[in-house]
Amino acid sequence: MKLMMIESDGATRLGVVDGESVIDLAACSDALPTNLQALIDAGPDALARIGKAVETAADTAKLALDQVKPALPLSRPGKFICVGLNYALHAKEGGHDTPDYPSLFPRWSTSLVAAGAPVIRPRVSDQLDYEGELTIIIGRGGRHISEEYALEHVFGYTIFNDVSVRTYQRKTSQWAAGKNFDGTGPLGPVVVTPDDLPPGASGLRITTRVNGETRQDSNTSDMIFPTARIIAILSEFMTLEPGDVIATGTPSGVAHAMSPPGWMKHGDEVEVEIEGIGVLRNPVVDET
Ligand code: MG
Repeated sequence: MKLMMIESDGATRLGVVDGESVIDLAACSDALPTNLQALIDAGPDALARIGKAVETAADTAKLALDQVKPALPLSRPGKFICVGLNYALHAKEGGHDTPDYPSLFPRWSTSLVAAGAPVIRPRVSDQLDYEGELTIIIGRGGRHISEEYALEHVFGYTIFNDVSVRTYQRKTSQWAAGKNFDGTGPLGPVVVTPDDLPPGASGLRITTRVNGETRQDSNTSDMIFPTARIIAILSEFMTLEPGDVIATGTPSGVAHAMSPPGWMKHGDEVEVEIEGIGVLRNPVVDET
């Protein structure tokens, strides 16, 4: 199932993508979860009820996909964890060895923006880079989750653009500043449940384009730490909770590795596409 949060009349609603339409669940029944976090918290039965509601949805509940305004799938996730250097060629282009333990850093929710919303190039730096990433949303929480059962804890997969301000990322060995500027975390728009994707969302082509020019073109099967391994590693030291988000790292082809660097600038359009999930598209604007 493909789920999507949409914004309409200043409020957000939960929808199901059906071909070129989005079925507005609030128009189907007032007994269904009204946002993605509520759906995750309600457990698998709620997903089954949505499946039934969608089958009998009236035409009046269907909105044109290209007319809806996407909202963030999760606006304030309990945790947003980013994995760095998870593709060998990307680690190499940044001058790093292939890691035997993942780099981890947080994203705070003030940096997140929906699909279609502007990515902000800050006043203080012109080194604005893109990073297309497969992203996990946790369904069932837990601690000490074994790799063998880790995929049972996944609610779904979505797309993240880990837009990075390289000058600030490199000020110290901790990357948090360069990864948390306001308006630098596009997420969504569609969340796909695992039954519609290969196990662990492995084997999916992932591409990033700037103004239509392909900059990153890889496959999620190239991840050094695949989905199940990431969940096992994280839950070794902390409790994962329903609705936690994990961005799994970016492939090679980032702007800072280009000669000259291909930084994003005002007026650009950046797109991240993952096979079977969709496209995350955002304009770039200067901070005013
Ligand atoms: Mg990244």
